[in-house]
This record gives sequence, C-alpha cells and structure tokens, in this order.
Amino acid sequence: MKDDPSLPANARFETRAIHVGQDFRSETGAVIPPVYLTSTFETGNPGNFDYTRSGSPNFRNLQSTLASLESAKHCTVFASGVSSISAIAFSLKAGDVILSEANIYGCTYRLFERMLRKFGVEIHYTDLANPANYAEIERLKPTLVWLESPTNPLLKILDITAISDAAHSVGSTVVVDNTFASSLIQRPLELGADISQLSTTKYTNGHSDALGGAVCTNSDEWQDKMIFAQKAIGLQPSPFDSWLVSRGVKTEAVRMERHCSNALELAKRLEARPGVKQVRYPFLPSNPQYELARKQMSGGSGMMLADTGLSYDAALAFMRKLHLFTQAESLGGVESLVAHPASMTHASVPKETREAVGITDGLVRFSVGIEHVEDLWEDIDRALSQSL
Ligand SMILES: *Cc1c(COP(=O)(O)O)cnc(C)c1O
Repeated sequence: MKDDPSLPANARFETRAIHVGQDFRSETGAVIPPVYLTSTFETGNPGNFDYTRSGSPNFRNLQSTLASLESAKHCTVFASGVSSISAIAFSLKAGDVILSEANIYGCTYRLFERMLRKFGVEIHYTDLANPANYAEIERLKPTLVWLESPTNPLLKILDITAISDAAHSVGSTVVVDNTFASSLIQRPLELGADISQLSTTKYTNGHSDALGGAVCTNSDEWQDKMIFAQKAIGLQPSPFDSWLVSRGVKTEAVRMERHCSNALELAKRLEARPGVKQVRYPFLPSNPQYELARKQMSGGSGMMLADTGLSYDAALAFMRKLHLFTQAESLGGVESLVAHPASMTHASVPKETREAVGITDGLVRFSVGIEHVEDLWEDIDRALSQSL
C-alpha cells in the first residue's frame, strides 16, 4: 500500500502530480486508488483510521499529492476553500490580530467581518502592494498576515518574499491564498510564506465538479492545528470529492500551461483592440507589476480583466452575446467563464467606492478555459463588435 517505490527523489511537478499519493491500491492492483465510501473503520486497522471525519484513505492520498506539489511537509484537506480558511481563522483566539491585504476574496472578508470579529479577533486591512504599508506589520505585530496573489478581482501581485521577511521580523505567520495562481505556477512556501491555502475547487481540480480546500505548511504546530480543525470543527471533505480532486490534479500542469497561453494571447489581442480601455493580466508586459509577477510566478494563470469601456448595461449585454464564456461565479475549470464584478461580486459596494479601486461598470473578468484560443478570440471579437 505504498507510493510507487521507483519514483526518483528529484521527480518533477508533472510526474509527482500523477505518482505521489497513490496508496491503498496494492490489494487489488487497481491502477487508480478506489474511493472509500465508508463513514467508519474497524478498530486496529493497519492504516490507523477510525472515523471519516478525522481521516480517510482518500484524504491521505490527496494530502500527500498536494504537500508534494506545494513543496510542503504537511497538507490537510477540507470541504471547500472557505472551510480551509475557517480552519486557519478558527485556530485563533480572542485578542489575536490579523493584518489582511485589503483586496481579498469576498467570502474571506465576510468570514473575517461577520464571524471571526464576534469572537474577539481584531482584523485590519491595508494595501500590501505598496511597500510603505509594510510599516503596518511592524506597528501591529499581527498574529497572521493574510494575503492572496494575484488578488481577486483586481489581479494585484503582492511580493510574497518581501512581505514574509517583514512579517517574520515581528514573529507573524504569513498565510497566502494560492488559489488564483495554482501550485504549478506559484509555491508560496518556497517564497517564504508559512502557510499556503487553496480552494482546490478551482485550478487544482479544474473540472468544476467538486468543492475542496487545502492548507499546506512546513510547521508541525500549524499542522497539528489543521488536523484538529478538520475533525473538531467538522470541516472534512467527502471522500468522493477528495477522489475527484485527486483525479483532477493529475492534469494540473497541462491544463495550467494552456490556461496561461490562452489568457496571455487573449489579453494581448484585447489590449490591441480599439475601444477596449485597459486590460490587466499578470504576464502582460504593460502590467506595472510584470517584473514582480515574473519573479514569483512561472505563468500568468488563467484570470484576465478587461475594462471594455462599456456602460453597466452594455457590459452585461456583451457578456450575454458570448457563446463560449458562461456567465458564472468561480474560475479555474477547463471551460471559460465570464463575470461582471460590478453586478456580481461587488454589487453591494457603492459605485464610487468600487470605482475608486478600479471596479468600473465596464470591467469584465474572464476565467479563460482551455478551449482553442482562436475559437475563444472569435467569440470575444464578435461579441465586442456587436457591443462597442
Ligand atoms: C473560490 C475561492 C475561495 C473559496 O473557495 P470555495 O471552494 O468556493 O469555498 C477562496 N479564495 C479564493 C481566492 C477563491 O477564488
């Protein structure tokens, strides 16, 4: 019941994605480990399993794979990205302080503000893209520094190494939500962060058919907290969803390469198209943070923003004219999606406030899938011609 014993120690990402975390096969010779649809286990079993809330062969396999891909000593899997954020957040106690990047995923913000604050955790926000604001880390000496890079939806790139250095000088733990980048493109622990947290619902699984979350760390202390949270707060995933994510992650490298090349090509063509005001994509040379993105990411990922310059209603009409991009929340699946931050994720934010941070009425967010790039471009080009 062991991993492939012939796996070389220096095996690369693509190989580890397929061969690490493949235990529990040897009794049948099954090439793919089965899904263990059982709630409980006989006492004294060789794998030391007791009850699925606190562990399953499917969790263990996925945890081994993701730890390997994130260059981490440990990984714990959860029911969703929000469950993995909850596991970290609810390991804090009253009086602890979080200093968070201001532009974070909306549900993370909601969890901090509407849940965690009630329990006496202090939360502060700052723009961590501006190094002058690292002074806040020094001033607050927070328990956690919380960030994502690229950020949602603005695709700001934050300097993970510089922020980690500043945080470690005052004893803070750095958490990076690595969902938008994916483990192939960016490995926060290699860059100096203490915890890399993922919504595996997105690029890790890649097929929009399961939810999941993961926390990766080299810290034994944080790992103990995560295992405890998984069972004590009831944040465990289903064995079947874990099995689906284990299936999905095997193709992460090929999928990400196509997401990156498609998104870069569409970003370049959109930028050159008359009428389009601005395009934001980490690996577009015109991006003011291009150098930093190149330093810490090996690709630009599949998320791309375009300020179409259209009015609120015209932007929505443009999106309805697209045939290959489905209007939906979420990202990271093989199929392309499109979203309108002003009416979807940021609908509750007053117009002046959202425009001040760049969320204009004409801003459209693309989750670029892995379809043929010419088909995607023809779709966007046609819909724009009918809208501009
Ligand atoms: C989707 C997402 C989450 C939440 O993940 P779920 O699996 O939907 O719970 C957290 N962070 C980021 C950046 C996300 O995109």
